[in-house]
Amino acid sequence: MNETQPEKLDLLGLSQHQMHQALSGLGEKPYRTQQVMKWLHHRDASDIHEMTDISKKLRAHFEVAAEIHEPEVLSEKVSQDGTRKWLMRARSGSAIETVFIPEGARGTLCVSSQVGCVLDCKFCSTGKQGFNSNLTAGEIVGQLRVAERTLRDQFSDRNRAVTNVVLMGMGEPLLNADQVIPAVSIMMDDLGYGISKRKVTISTAGVVPGIRRLKETTDASLAISLHAPNDALRDQLVPINRKYPIAMLLDACRDYAENLGEKRTITIEYILLDGINDQAEHAVELSRLLAGFPCKINLIPFNPYPGTGYKRPSAKNVRFFQEYLVGQGFSTMVRTTRGADIDAACGQLAGQVEDRTRRSERYQRIALSAAVE
Ligand code: SF4
Repeated sequence: MNETQPEKLDLLGLSQHQMHQALSGLGEKPYRTQQVMKWLHHRDASDIHEMTDISKKLRAHFEVAAEIHEPEVLSEKVSQDGTRKWLMRARSGSAIETVFIPEGARGTLCVSSQVGCVLDCKFCSTGKQGFNSNLTAGEIVGQLRVAERTLRDQFSDRNRAVTNVVLMGMGEPLLNADQVIPAVSIMMDDLGYGISKRKVTISTAGVVPGIRRLKETTDASLAISLHAPNDALRDQLVPINRKYPIAMLLDACRDYAENLGEKRTITIEYILLDGINDQAEHAVELSRLLAGFPCKINLIPFNPYPGTGYKRPSAKNVRFFQEYLVGQGFSTMVRTTRGADIDAACGQLAGQVEDRTRRSERYQRIALSAAVE
């Protein structure tokens, strides 16, 4: 995989375990891990000099060999409904997008994991941008750090502005699992951002080996971008289905769900596209497919963007789809469109992806086989 890796130790992206290993390798006592992580994630240190209670020797070492690097905010837009979208510069020079959606007591941050995406789901604006590079763990966590800092004053009545994180921004998280796994660990760690494992969600288009790997490394929540009730249709809409068909995907999810314990389920994301997958027959087929599967279903009426050939479904079809699934016993929500006036709605994130040459079929094969290893 293409990585734009830092030359120095990327402090923001080190999980507690990784930080402990790095510091014990330098002969530091275990309590240093706590000190450094608190400076980074609780006290928002932007310079190593700010860490006044760590030893001079460690600070001098960090000065030469480590860095605190978060993505630089290039622009911020605020929607009429309060949704915010930041354009942030990644190390590669391209720009990613991060979206904050306030809803009462909940504040959800939609975080990017890659610059662009190689998977090319047919309805997705990010997929149309091609692929440029993976984000580092520090850049993934950095999006949360930026959001918390920016919004802190506005949400001072609660512990955190961001109560939920979803890795549903640009990119396929499980094609960048090496960076996503420590980033998620920091988000859930009390020495990091202390967000409940129920409220940090990794979303995948269906990278089955990545789901199997997740089971060994995290118990964050999992969402699947299903979008079709059968392989023939899913092969067209979500091309990775040709490699990992629905039965194989649901099998891996069932296995992961066992890891989560009772009362936790997998989220099924289903974008409704007018005339494509929003008909009564699709609702019936979806309900049969998911019978007995531990899940809740999110229906997402498609948000059109310039150049897409797909259309938003009618309100009547959306209502039928939801009512049918609820009638069959599924917990089913229709996701309200948020931030559409600033192109921040689901599926509209495009960023600014330069050097898209890696979107060739050959690169796609390499990316997928790297995920399998
Ligand atoms: S929907 Fe997700 S996995 Fe598919 S192309 Fe878009 S960003 Fe990539």
